[in-house]
Amino acid sequence: MSLSVQHLTKQYGEQNAVDNISFEVNEGEIVGFLGPNGAGKSTTMKIATTYLPPTSGKVSVAGWDVTEQAMKIKSVIGYLPEHNPLYLDMYVHEYLHFIGRLYGMRGKHLKQRVGEMVERCGLVREQHKRIEMLSKGYRQRVGLAQALIHNPKVLILDEPTSGLDPNQLVEIRKLIKEVSADKTVIFSTHIMQEVQALCDRVIVINKGSIVADDRLDNLLSQRKGTTAVVVEFDQPVSKEELGKLHGVAHVERITSVTFRLTSDGTADIRPEVFKFAAQLQVSLLGLKVEEHSLENIFRSLTANTLEA
Ligand code: ADP
Repeated sequence: MSLSVQHLTKQYGEQNAVDNISFEVNEGEIVGFLGPNGAGKSTTMKIATTYLPPTSGKVSVAGWDVTEQAMKIKSVIGYLPEHNPLYLDMYVHEYLHFIGRLYGMRGKHLKQRVGEMVERCGLVREQHKRIEMLSKGYRQRVGLAQALIHNPKVLILDEPTSGLDPNQLVEIRKLIKEVSADKTVIFSTHIMQEVQALCDRVIVINKGSIVADDRLDNLLSQRKGTTAVVVEFDQPVSKEELGKLHGVAHVERITSVTFRLTSDGTADIRPEVFKFAAQLQVSLLGLKVEEHSLENIFRSLTANTLEA
């Protein structure tokens, strides 16, 4: 087991930022840690990387306990924190040397490792530049290089693509995929496509609690029955009456004449909508089945936060 989190709680004052969560990540897995802002992702990652102590519960990395064997854990874990703190006035090459020395590397080995990281993270042309001269995408590459310098078994990346432009985003995702080949990786994001692009398993956290922990394909297939349709009428109709239709679990009013109906999975709701329109003698101008996308799943799992 690479990472084990058992009944972890973290309180900041009165607030439970993380509330009794448990999960495990096996060796070689790439797991997306997904949730809206404030869900508790960074807090969990800071605890797993030994930067914050838990309030209660047990967290271990590669079998070592975060509170008792922090130095051991630091030697096998690579961490790219949110907002990627770098020494901006250092040169890329110099910075990676500095980080390598912190991990106890010296001489030839250090030089070789910095060279490998520069190569692997696509920094050959940037290595003699000052970090402050680099674009956000290249800074993220430097952040990844420092996280990988000691060849860690476990890689923890906190929102590694946030704030990148679409081209940089694709490049950094590709790089993460490449460097993940022989590692256990946990990365946080609030972007579903990112999870889809990078990993097989997703843990969804909301308000400090885990609301889903499954393979992506399972998550999609389990919810196949609950499709949504968007319907448009030529005049306003009652939301309450729509909610009474057979097979309708939830109605969301988009405009006075447009509604999103979510099915409870027991019946196809489209014929019901046609009958409803005919009975009321209103025209149905449109009816569109919404694909059951990961975005919709994310919205439904974390809906209480978004509506708050
Ligand atoms: P995420 O990474 O999912 O955005 P965080 O773990 O950063 O979530 O935050 C979880 C909750 O804990 C938020 O409500 C946040 O405001 C709160 N929080 C985070 N860090 C601190 C801190 N140092 N002191 C007090 N509250 C904090």
